[in-house]
Amino acid sequence: MTPLEEALEMLERHPLCDHCLGRQFALLGHGIENNDRGKALKLSLTLQASAFNQSKNAEGLKNLKILATNGFSREAADTLRRLKKRISQKSQPRPCFLCENRLQIIDDLVQKTLKKIANYEYTTFLVGVELPVAVEEREDEFKAVFAISYGESIRHEFGRLLGKKIEAQTDKTVEYRKPDMVLIINPFTEDVKIQVNPLFVAGRYRKLVRHIPQSKWFCSSCRGKGCEKCGWTGKLYPESVEELVSNQLLKAAEGEKTAFHASGREDIDARMLGSGRPFVVEISKPKKRFLDLRKLGETINDTAKGKVEVSNLHFTSKDIVRRLKKGESAQKEYRVLMEFESDVSEEGLRVLEEKLTGALIKQQTPLRVLHRRADLTREKYIYEVKVKKLSPKKAEMKIRCQGGLYVKELVSDDEGRTTPSVSGLLGNRAKPIKLDVLNVIMEE
Ligand SMILES: [Zn+2]
Ligand SMILES: [Zn+2]
Repeated sequence: MTPLEEALEMLERHPLCDHCLGRQFALLGHGIENNDRGKALKLSLTLQASAFNQSKNAEGLKNLKILATNGFSREAADTLRRLKKRISQKSQPRPCFLCENRLQIIDDLVQKTLKKIANYEYTTFLVGVELPVAVEEREDEFKAVFAISYGESIRHEFGRLLGKKIEAQTDKTVEYRKPDMVLIINPFTEDVKIQVNPLFVAGRYRKLVRHIPQSKWFCSSCRGKGCEKCGWTGKLYPESVEELVSNQLLKAAEGEKTAFHASGREDIDARMLGSGRPFVVEISKPKKRFLDLRKLGETINDTAKGKVEVSNLHFTSKDIVRRLKKGESAQKEYRVLMEFESDVSEEGLRVLEEKLTGALIKQQTPLRVLHRRADLTREKYIYEVKVKKLSPKKAEMKIRCQGGLYVKELVSDDEGRTTPSVSGLLGNRAKPIKLDVLNVIMEE
């Protein structure tokens, strides 16, 4: 069968609009819109039917009537009128069998959608199409009956047309992998839902003071609801790096909430110095995406002055969050101030440097975190250790090691749970007094 014969057979059975007829032949010919394909088929069939009619072939009149009613063809109807043939009342046009004429309201759907997203900043979007089950079932059945092999589905047709028209009216771009927004449009209920994808802002932070946790720490008694113990704040600590950094970003982006992702974390009583620790703030449902990050960085540093400092703020994507988590075991540099029970000798400290540089440390989960972490033994490598004596009982140790090493326990030995340790190697009980993270070395 030729495409023309196939098209006529379809129209004989069902009313079909130009889009729905044309898309059954979508893979024939390039650079043609489906409605133009449908229109071309109907025009060709009208010419053919006219010729049949002139040569007194009864098919001619019959086909013109089919085209005028089921094909909604103005040309076929005009031809019939010239022949003074009337179209019977019962064959008045019914809506398109497949789309119920919904492919004719695309422009209205576009306007409705644009209104809904008018208050959002975005550069890329994707259209998702929601269809009633009955519509898809009908389409499947139609495909089976007519053995459609080069057609395009109704879902594709809606999605492609809506995407193209929105692109043309907004100069934004359709993007399949990581769109800023997904517009979910149901052409049958005319319902438009929008799904705003998160905005990711990356940077590095330095924590200049002790006793601020990295993340918001809920009160353990009330779990955030607020109680007497936490002074009705719901929090165990009034501030955190997370809040000091995220709050300004959330406000500027007019988002719903934030999540704070970092490459590892320092203890509450440790500072984070050097070039800082890499982090990503994930902002849910942002209305604004075109943020001035340089200015925002300054605002954060002003409001968190003396406590937290951010640098190198830049936009990033979800992939980086995954890499940050992986990077938890990236190299870290620490400085710890140690106090000993008995006096230490320069010679003892040189031995310590020698024994710890290049050492593989076996650590059982520290007693202080055992209540929230599984009891495991981990092995962490130390690249380099340098020790400086400050007084008979005090020394400063700088270490560069694999991330995840518990430095306080490396000093104390944690009741024998960390080996080797400073206490163990020197036979002199050592206590960590102050801890700073000097550097987080990440491949970026
Ligand atoms: Zn249709
Ligand atoms: Zn509380």
